[in-house]
Amino acid sequence: MKTFKSYISGSWISTKSGITKTLHNPADTNQLTGKVEYAGGEIAQAAMDAAKDAWNCWREYPVAKRIEILSVLLEIIKQERDEIAKIITTENGKTLRESYSEIDSALNEAEYQTKFLSKSIVEHISNHEIRYEPLGVVLLITPWNFPLATILRKLVPALAVGNTVVVKPSELTPMTADALFRIIDRLGFPKGAINMLIGEGNVSGPVLCKHPALRAVSLTGSSYTGANIARQIRDYKVKFQAEMGGKNAVVVLEDADLDEAANAVVQSGFACCGQWCTGTSRVIVEKPVYEKFINMLVEKTGRISTGDGFNKSVTMGPLISKAQLDRVEAAVLNAKKDGAKLLAGGKRPGKAELSNGYFFEPTIFADVKPGMNIAQEEIFGPVIAVLAADNMDEALSIANNSKYGLAFSVYTKSKSAAGKFMNEVNAGVCHINLPTSFRDPALPLYGWGNSGCGLPESGRFARDFFTKTKAIYKAQ
Ligand code: NAD
Repeated sequence: MKTFKSYISGSWISTKSGITKTLHNPADTNQLTGKVEYAGGEIAQAAMDAAKDAWNCWREYPVAKRIEILSVLLEIIKQERDEIAKIITTENGKTLRESYSEIDSALNEAEYQTKFLSKSIVEHISNHEIRYEPLGVVLLITPWNFPLATILRKLVPALAVGNTVVVKPSELTPMTADALFRIIDRLGFPKGAINMLIGEGNVSGPVLCKHPALRAVSLTGSSYTGANIARQIRDYKVKFQAEMGGKNAVVVLEDADLDEAANAVVQSGFACCGQWCTGTSRVIVEKPVYEKFINMLVEKTGRISTGDGFNKSVTMGPLISKAQLDRVEAAVLNAKKDGAKLLAGGKRPGKAELSNGYFFEPTIFADVKPGMNIAQEEIFGPVIAVLAADNMDEALSIANNSKYGLAFSVYTKSKSAAGKFMNEVNAGVCHINLPTSFRDPALPLYGWGNSGCGLPESGRFARDFFTKTKAIYKAQ
């Protein structure tokens, strides 16, 4: 069985902490997929030291050279797409189609960054210049739900502008990180420019965050982790960016194309088994079309086929872990107790062949009230809460009744109604007649409220986060 290790200064490092975990496929826990050696504090320290030592060398590479090496990395990922997709499905559980889609959108976003950054590290304003200079050592902390895309989204711009990095991927998805770093290992990066640390964040995080060379932390993860990291770096002069949890709402007004809206809700609510930060988890429907719309949702949800993501006829894989399954089951139990009306799912599938995996049926609750837990707390599973609204104003007020503010969408044919929502909704990623998970790599990814902190990710904001500006004035 393969053992997955941390990668520091160009070598695969064995841990001294002695903590080794066995990995299994979330679709079938009897299928063991490898072992992972968790890094402790000493390896965290070594990773930061290596990145610090490599900085003077990497920053001296001209930007075109840095981007050339990164472009080779992206090209090899493209060539090894089949292999990487299988690894993602094996350790994360998402369907093979979803794994391909993750790889393709990650490459698309990375290529946007290499093109943008090749032209925008220096800006000329009349006779003067703005230079975007690297910060030094940056720490990139990523989750398990998009194990490749969330790393590349940070890694490519951070390196392209001349920083060195320590990547701390989720301990639940070390196989995808390993596949990526096996490619990195074959390329011409200076030793120590890119390091990767596998292990539990609450063990290595405090050491990484206290290192004197650390200049920035970019996190994608839960709001809980975001708050912990903010505390860990509180006493240091470190830039911080966090993309965190959400409770994303779709508003369906009575004039909407209901079929299109229902397709979008089912697509965005149940893709990746609901484990998608911009996925839909609340649906607020105007009363005149409420009954009709929930019937459409239930009918479309019934077409989802739950099972092993490698099976071509399957459209929804398992949850990633027992902890996620327990969290979803607890939320469903709670919603029932609170009086929400279960319309679909609500349990693990009965099929014997799925009994060894973390499967849960796509679930819809109707008649949810805004104050219920199911309308307020992020579940991160295949559970959609439907709420009724008397009118547009009430729909807006329910949508805004949340501590989160990541993604939002309104379905309507009225331009003025859509305009009102775009003006007044509290969310950083807003849509009109599009699924909440729709994105373009040129636009910022940023959550309001408990969903985000610091500068956004993506688009030109990646450059702004991973650099410091130098203004240069020249006499005429
Ligand atoms: P998580 O917060 O549990 O873990 C994220 C990463 O942080 C992991 O690598 C973990 O090891 C690390 N970590 C945990 N404690 C740490 C500490 N004290 N110091 C340093 N690192 C630490 O999140 P998860 O369960 O992996 O992912 C799911 C969450 O991520 C959900 O809340 C989801 O909404 C969010 N997410 C947000 C976005 C976005 O763009 N807004 C995208 C994907 C996922």
